[in-house]
Amino acid sequence: MSRQLEGKTAIVTGSSTGIGAAIAKRFAAEGAKVVTNSRSRERAKTVADEIENEGGTAIAVESDVTDHDEMAAMIEATVDEFGSLDIMVNNAGLTRIGPAESISPEDWRHVIDVDLTGVFFGSQLAGRQMIEQESGGAILNISSIMGGIGLHKRAPYCAAKAGVNNLTQTLAVEWAPHEIHVNALAPGFIKTDITDQTQSAADYTDEDIRNRTPLGRFGTLDEMTECATFLVNTDHYVTGEVLHADGGWTAYAWGSSGE
Ligand code: NAD
Repeated sequence: MSRQLEGKTAIVTGSSTGIGAAIAKRFAAEGAKVVTNSRSRERAKTVADEIENEGGTAIAVESDVTDHDEMAAMIEATVDEFGSLDIMVNNAGLTRIGPAESISPEDWRHVIDVDLTGVFFGSQLAGRQMIEQESGGAILNISSIMGGIGLHKRAPYCAAKAGVNNLTQTLAVEWAPHEIHVNALAPGFIKTDITDQTQSAADYTDEDIRNRTPLGRFGTLDEMTECATFLVNTDHYVTGEVLHADGGWTAYAWGSSGE
């Protein structure tokens, strides 16, 4: 079977763990040259080494998505190494949990900084590079079902992801003349560090999530990479789309018991 991303170069931010690491490995398996990224070069390199050991091509670049200069340097390093940038996945994200009435200004700013400003910086710099290349491209922003619905104690995360959804539409419209497709993937509940962190501080159990999800289970990393691979292909007519990969969660009107 032909590989879907043969010859493309892709950056995946926050790809030392979870969904980002899975996307980086899948894109490499599909033939892409991949740049793994983390705030720690060592952590990013672990995933790049795994890709290389499987016969893929990858380099690791350290950068914080909230730092415009570091992000610009990552794009430059990518183009120096591989000659172009064709796919940008703005995946890095985190959350802080607390009642809206008492969440600290620092926590609010930190989540907005990483989850929204980081996505804008990554998109802006990648878009600039793709426009200069005149070869089109794909930007994929990892949003969340929380971008379209509310959940108590997640005000900054929900607000940031809602911003990501609109930013995705705005950039899709603005860069369509350059053949740059901008889409978002909005996962439901997938077992990663972020869900562990969220749930240990939260008020619901795995069982509650399974009961509330029409498909009756968590999503898998493979299912997320399948959607991501589709969305970064530019041989479709899809741009400005927020694809919900949530087992039917947002389609379902009932409450938390799932009865
Ligand atoms: P994760 O915690 O494993 O991955 C997040 C990654 O982002 C980590 O590797 C972290 O080190 C990195 N990161 C955080 N701040 C960064 C920064 N400033 N610069 C660079 N990297 C940074 O969790 P995950 O579930 O794989 O999350 C990936 C994305 O998926 C996030 O945007 C998250 O909001 C989104 N998401 C996850 C779920 C889920 O159920 N797991 C659901 C919806 C959306």
